[in-house]
Amino acid sequence: MKKRNQFDVAVIGGGPAGMMAAGRAAELGARVILVEKNPELGKKLLITGGGRCNLTNAETDARKFIEKLGKNGKFFFSPIAAFGTRQAIDFFEGLGVKTKMEDRKRVFPVSNDAADVLEALKSYMEKGGVTIATEATAAGFNKKEGRLTHLNLRGSEIEAQAYILATGGRSRPETGATGEGLKWASALGHTILNPFPALVPLKISDGWVKQTQGLSMDNIEVTLRVNGKKDSVRTGNILFTHFGMSGPAILDISKRVGEVLKDKTTEVLLTLDLKPALSVTQLDERVQKDFKKYQNKTFRNSLDDLLPRKLIPAIVKMSQINPNKPVHEITREDRLRLVKLLKDLRMSPIGLLGFDKAIASSGGVDLAEVDTKTMRSKILDNLYFAGDVLDIDAPTGGFNLQLCWSTGYVAGEAAARQTVERDEL
Ligand SMILES: Cc1cc2nc3c(=O)[nH]c(=O)nc-3n(C[C@H](O)[C@H](O)[C@H](O)COP(=O)(O)OP(=O)(O)OC[C@H]3O[C@@H](n4cnc5c(N)ncnc54)[C@H](O)[C@@H]3O)c2cc1C
Repeated sequence: MKKRNQFDVAVIGGGPAGMMAAGRAAELGARVILVEKNPELGKKLLITGGGRCNLTNAETDARKFIEKLGKNGKFFFSPIAAFGTRQAIDFFEGLGVKTKMEDRKRVFPVSNDAADVLEALKSYMEKGGVTIATEATAAGFNKKEGRLTHLNLRGSEIEAQAYILATGGRSRPETGATGEGLKWASALGHTILNPFPALVPLKISDGWVKQTQGLSMDNIEVTLRVNGKKDSVRTGNILFTHFGMSGPAILDISKRVGEVLKDKTTEVLLTLDLKPALSVTQLDERVQKDFKKYQNKTFRNSLDDLLPRKLIPAIVKMSQINPNKPVHEITREDRLRLVKLLKDLRMSPIGLLGFDKAIASSGGVDLAEVDTKTMRSKILDNLYFAGDVLDIDAPTGGFNLQLCWSTGYVAGEAAARQTVERDEL
């Protein structure tokens, strides 16, 4: 019979990865404790997807999913195979969360409420009898001969046979993701790749961008140009803000912008194609049609069908066409300049916002030191990792949470099996 503070598995961090890991380990019969420093579980989960929680991406082709993860993608073949996007949808549906798919295969609860996803995870853990300790701040581990022996809490300690570190990365520290788990992993001998904001809004120097704040546009092609050459392209929603640009397409390109901005001698430009579905010729035909319709209006009053109202003053100014010119007087040369502007609207990024505004941080525990099949540390026999604490880097669209479900599930299962095997010896 175990003493009250002894468990098979101790999970540190009550975010999506930790809750999934705790629930899975308990489902397999392990005696599990989940330790969370906040008074409530899942503080970050509740703000995902603007409170709607884009819980996964319905990309069921593992290869295509992995392609989204960049250079570290290969590591995730195994966890995705063990618990993929289809399993994640079935898992939540099985716990009563009806799901729906939106554009770009993004999956949300039908209720549009992240709280339903959190409740499902809580009920999963409850079914397995997980002990939940909230307002319990972990302060590090004790180790002996290549194994962890205790988890130190402020004022007490927990003894477990296996430990799962799921303390998150460093984005949005007010949710609890302050990076101390990374410090312990480093003290225990793991390499920590420097975390920096990955999915994060951009500071832009151009005044017209700030003057357009509040405008959100869908289906915009964003191109990053480095020293005049095309570097990367993303298409999707963009948002003009008081400091620069945000929105999924901007967040997804932000990590690369951060990388190229490090070299101060590089010329870095973002260009927007406001009408990516139309070729230059097609767009010119479209503009001609509008100009015919509005031939007796002034130029500044002729663009309402083509552009959102908030953007018109900036476009009129940058087109160098007199705003008061009657449309029928606009020359072909002027019109072609306008078309070019709409396909190649330029702005200069000058920096990234910080961790406090980031959706994800890249960096974390070096994947080379983690077993891909179990999430077990290659350095310590009874330490496992799950979620953002790993050197994970995914774009927006539900990929980050899927990585939490997959790695949490695998870590929970492997930790439970390790402790059950020990018990059977
Ligand atoms: C604004 C925003 C929107 C997002 N939207 C989406 C989305 O729609 N879809 C998507 O896929 N991803 C989204 N993400 C990313 C997603 O939220 C993260 O990938 C995910 O929360 C990571 O889960 P995690 O369990 O690894 O870490 P976290 O969610 O950060 O949880 C870690 C937990 O560990 C606890 N902890 C830390 N240190 C200690 C300690 N010393 N003792 C005890 N507990 C500790 C923390 O308090 C925290 O609760 C979004 C992120 C943000 C910031």
